[in-house]
Amino acid sequence: MPNRGIFEEKIVRGVALIASGMTDAGGWDSPVLARHVVEAVRIVGERLRRDPPVRCPLCGRSPFTRKGYYLHLLRIHYHEILQEVRSEAERYSSSRKL
Ligand SMILES: [Zn+2]
Repeated sequence: MPNRGIFEEKIVRGVALIASGMTDAGGWDSPVLARHVVEAVRIVGERLRRDPPVRCPLCGRSPFTRKGYYLHLLRIHYHEILQEVRSEAERYSSSRKL
């Protein structure tokens, strides 16, 4: 079931801000998210980062401005982004335990 809880919203917005270049990965943070989740948001955001005119790496649609790409990610790829961050966060935390 889709859950647009407050943490999910923060996670996806963070990725979209970094991906669209509206915020630098190193400049993004959230005091309410666990450290490994913040790290995962930065990694996924950097992976999806494109400069305008943006061609969306997830669906190929183009062209987007920064703001347009940001909104497109939030509206169209919300659950994909959440899933990406989940698996990245798991990978990150398990690599730290070894
Ligand atoms: Zn897309």
